[in-house]
Amino acid sequence: MTTIKLHNTKSRKKTEFVPIDAENVRMYVCGPTVYDRAHLGNARPVVVFDVLYRLLREVYGADHVTYVRNFTDVDDKINARAAQTGRSIGEITDETIQWFLDDMGALGALEPNAMPRATQFIPQMVAMISDLISKGHAYAAEGHVLFAVDSWREGYGKLSGRSVDDMIAGARVEVAPYKKNPMDFVLWKPSNDSQPGWDSPWGRGRPGWHIECSAMSYELLGETFDIHGGGNDLMFPHHENEIAQSCCAHGDDSFAKYWLHNEMLQVEGKKMSKSLGNFFTVHDLLDQGVPGEVIRFVFLQTHYRKPMDWTEKKAKEAEATLRKWRALTAGIEPADSAAAAVLDALADDLNTAGALAEMHKLAAASDAPRLLASARLLGLLSDDLGDWAEVPEVDLSTYETQLLKAREQAMESKDFAEVDRLKAAFVTAGLEVRMSKAGVELVPGTGFDPVKLEGLE
Ligand SMILES: [Zn+2]
Repeated sequence: MTTIKLHNTKSRKKTEFVPIDAENVRMYVCGPTVYDRAHLGNARPVVVFDVLYRLLREVYGADHVTYVRNFTDVDDKINARAAQTGRSIGEITDETIQWFLDDMGALGALEPNAMPRATQFIPQMVAMISDLISKGHAYAAEGHVLFAVDSWREGYGKLSGRSVDDMIAGARVEVAPYKKNPMDFVLWKPSNDSQPGWDSPWGRGRPGWHIECSAMSYELLGETFDIHGGGNDLMFPHHENEIAQSCCAHGDDSFAKYWLHNEMLQVEGKKMSKSLGNFFTVHDLLDQGVPGEVIRFVFLQTHYRKPMDWTEKKAKEAEATLRKWRALTAGIEPADSAAAAVLDALADDLNTAGALAEMHKLAAASDAPRLLASARLLGLLSDDLGDWAEVPEVDLSTYETQLLKAREQAMESKDFAEVDRLKAAFVTAGLEVRMSKAGVELVPGTGFDPVKLEGLE
């Protein structure tokens, strides 16, 4: 069996991955808060952990991996969006969840085995909070319940490598009066009549963000599971708080064994931000005609633990490579398995860039069946992602006749302006123009776009 090695944030080392139960390898990844379209940076963890999911399925069998990714559908940003638009919270979250699934599907991401919504697990969260209070790790105050960081000083901060004292010294937020320690974080908070709320022993309220992942991973994956993933912006405080909640409820050895964090995404060398005007969603890119498969390919070119830079140049190059690979593998059956070198690269802490380099070698050697099987392991060159690369079938005879007539006239008038105009327009549309004494032939190239022919006649 292939040995998978993963860089574990917890140990800060790349170590061999040994599942708790090879019959059921379990992974939890923090999902989106659903109030708006996913921006390109949101898609990175989705693609990264999709590749890991595919690798685990390849090594342990598709039926022996359980992947859970949540939807945060209770959050003040959602409440604000509802108030702003006059729409109901349910409408907004349902719509946003569907957008997310559509956009991530366009990037070739498989759907996880379970996609729990926070609002479906409120009783489980209330139970977990009650348990934390009874064990002395949380306290109720003014309608809130707070996790008492002092009750678990020995463990808090280990993942992100911070000590509680340093964190207190660095805390600049105004401390709420009901907090015993400035680092204490909210497990439950009160709701007013206009906010979504549920009855609880502490009054009508709603959960804090962190508790949902602890409660849902416990319900769906158990006290201990194999892998917890997410962007490295979630490491502190979100993941640190998840660990504190889960370990204090279920024991220090519980919760995730391997922690994986992906680095952030930039655009043309700059941090993506609304103020810089380089902020865009996955849907924006798809709308502009950038195929999802191309976005995925660009992502895979950078190792997940390195910052990745989205550039138009990379997208163009990725498109050219994918067109070449799709042409090479058209009508070909994939080999039984991916190339060993491709699998080995992925098994080495998800070295996707290395895997792609191996695939370039397969393409150079024209090993189409092996290239196709390897690409499928990375979620590329699948049938359902390939529509964009198909050369459209268009009857070009009208255009050929048009050019032929223009040439005949030009022979008489000695004015070739119209011939040149047509030839240039055909080339722009992605056609190769073959003219001989016998006639005229237009041959679609890989970039053929029939829309560009409109209005030529
Ligand atoms: Zn989470």
